[in-house]
Amino acid sequence: MKKYVYGVDIGGTNIKFGLFSSPEMELIQKAESSTPLSNHETSIFSLVGEVIESMNKKNCIEMSQIEGVGIAVPCPVKNGYVEKCPNLKWEKLDIYASMNKYLPSNLKIAVSNDANIAAYGENQSLEIPHNNAVFYTLGTGVGGGIIIDGEILEGRTGAGGEIGHMHVFEGTEPCSCGLSGCLEQVCGTSAILKQTIEFSKEYPTRLDLNKLTVKDVFDYAKDGDIVAMKVIDRIGEYMAISASILAVSLDPDIFIIGGGVSKAGDILIDTIKKHYKKHARFNTGDIPFILARTGNDAGIIGAASYVNKK
Ligand SMILES: [Zn+2]
Repeated sequence: MKKYVYGVDIGGTNIKFGLFSSPEMELIQKAESSTPLSNHETSIFSLVGEVIESMNKKNCIEMSQIEGVGIAVPCPVKNGYVEKCPNLKWEKLDIYASMNKYLPSNLKIAVSNDANIAAYGENQSLEIPHNNAVFYTLGTGVGGGIIIDGEILEGRTGAGGEIGHMHVFEGTEPCSCGLSGCLEQVCGTSAILKQTIEFSKEYPTRLDLNKLTVKDVFDYAKDGDIVAMKVIDRIGEYMAISASILAVSLDPDIFIIGGGVSKAGDILIDTIKKHYKKHARFNTGDIPFILARTGNDAGIIGAASYVNKK
């Protein structure tokens, strides 16, 4: 009898679902629903149960053929327990117990933070997964995930891998975490746009500052625009500083760079590498940097592949 797994990526706006064959991990069907806006502690889980049942039906799959459901959540989580998730208005919530109300209790449920799950999925999608990997996700915020000895590092409270909030400069403006000087305040999308405006006060640019996008900044940097190049250089420098700190703490096999900003491609990786050489200590200077490959599906792929780990 063929077996399957589900990967579910719960976000503040949407919930993404992926049905995969197991163990081949071939994507059979994707689905997406809006995140329910009320009764978050029950409605999200009942919706997940309903969508899984309807996807089973559509694909003529029995619940007994499902090996498990992997779930990515947008907040720190430790052993399936969420202390607080402002995005989803969850407090002191046991996800295993909540999910078991809507799915058969013998079904394996695997839960972790979305960036940790993406890290796991990216690493598993490599031809030979590494034992130790650091994953950055660069988007509106900067997140990350750390894989040590093949396991997600959740840490004591689930805050493990929150590398976007490494302190890398002396700042005064508050970050989303409440403190300041975080990596996210250099490499998050709003920081990138803000810095572009700042540099444009000092240097000439061909960028249209009234309808600026992060994609424009990277495109113009590739084209030699001074302001855009300065912005990318600054991102690369701070990414390199943070990676060099992680390198002397974890000495990972690889750094994987994902998230929307990583669509910039080689220019981003090359700039990080250039600066990393200066900041890396001991023999950590040759740790490779690669771009993530699973893109928008990182959450569902990671969540589904995490089922077989648990
Ligand atoms: Zn922060």
